[in-house]
Amino acid sequence: MNNASHEEIRQLFNHADRILLASHVRPDGDAIGSLLGLGLSLEDAGKEVVMVLSDGVTANFRFMSGYEKICTKVSDDKSFDLVITLDASDPERIGNAIGNRNIDLNIDHHVTNLHFGKHNLVDPLATATSEILAEHLESWGLKFTKPIAEALLTGLITDTIGFRTSNMSPKALKLGAKLMEAGANLPDLYNKSLIDRSYAQINYWGYALEKMERKDRLVWTALTLADRKMAGYNGNDDADLNTLLSSIAECDVTVLFVEQNNHHVKVSWRSKPGFNVSELAFSFNGGGHPAAAGADIEGTLEEVKKDVLEKTTGYLKKITKGKINNGN
Ligand code: AMP
Ligand code: MN
Ligand code: MN
Repeated sequence: MNNASHEEIRQLFNHADRILLASHVRPDGDAIGSLLGLGLSLEDAGKEVVMVLSDGVTANFRFMSGYEKICTKVSDDKSFDLVITLDASDPERIGNAIGNRNIDLNIDHHVTNLHFGKHNLVDPLATATSEILAEHLESWGLKFTKPIAEALLTGLITDTIGFRTSNMSPKALKLGAKLMEAGANLPDLYNKSLIDRSYAQINYWGYALEKMERKDRLVWTALTLADRKMAGYNGNDDADLNTLLSSIAECDVTVLFVEQNNHHVKVSWRSKPGFNVSELAFSFNGGGHPAAAGADIEGTLEEVKKDVLEKTTGYLKKITKGKINNGN
């Protein structure tokens, strides 16, 4: 599971003219930020760059410079010298945007990453894929401009929910400062990516909050396709409801079910320190981080809910029992 050296990555970029970059479905700020950060810097270096997200750019991230260059599909007959994925722990996370092309370089920070690229750069200690780029871009022969710094700082801010997740490090904070020095406006990006919300988004939350349930230290709820329609919410994601749920003090783990229209349910887990939900997500073919993980599970909402709540309850019992036996 060796990581590529920075010299190897520099050479990959040097020898490629046409470069395809992709990130994950239901993109978050880090998916879009890392895609734009690397994509724009390669473009500035004179490369022909195609950036793709199978779900496109969510409305709340359309403040990012260059977002309109991101497309939703690349035709199968177009050839590239280099194919790169960002912020994706397995190839399925990319969706159908790049067909079945082989991945040359996989840059990511998920502990569950499958190292599926020909070359891989996976750093589970990085708070965001954008952090990895902020740290190494220059050693790969690329440069920061203001839009690139803004894209990467947005990725850093969103994946750390404003520099407050438990994996936050001095290094991430220093890299944030470096991005500010390169021209990114922290308060402006913070407000745009974490604070500003649409009426439809909050309305959508309302449907889930009404159905919220709690058993011991587990809290869960669901967003259905009908809720999405009634609220007039356009995305197929959780509208960041996970952040609100994870602020509930009386629980260790929260689970959010978001019904999808392909007989699948998107499940998100969030946990407090001492609980590792990435293993639970991985057992459902998903992935993520110890404190935030997700999976796309086939079935009806009721079927998926039953299965996931059973396994999550079992996990919580096991962990809680272990803690009691250890006397902490
Ligand atoms: P989410 O619950 O979608 O906000 O995602 C939480 C974390 O889990 C993020 O780091 C995601 O990249 C990861 N994740 C979410 N869904 C999946 C999935 N289906 N497969 C692998 N990783 C996922
Ligand atoms: Mn992501
Ligand atoms: Mn990320």
